[in-house]
Amino acid sequence: MRVKVTLACEECKQRNYITMKNKKNNTDRIEMKKYCKFCQKHTNHKETK
Ligand SMILES: [Zn+2]
Repeated sequence: MRVKVTLACEECKQRNYITMKNKKNNTDRIEMKKYCKFCQKHTNHKETK
């Protein structure tokens, strides 16, 4: 049930983080506020394929 997802910065579209999510509990695309070293600030990161 656990799948690997990539988190990409919404502003520069860089893929900065890889995380795991539980497909059963988390069916929607996940979003996280994380530091982007390309934007040099915290931005919203969204799950990509
Ligand atoms: Zn960025």
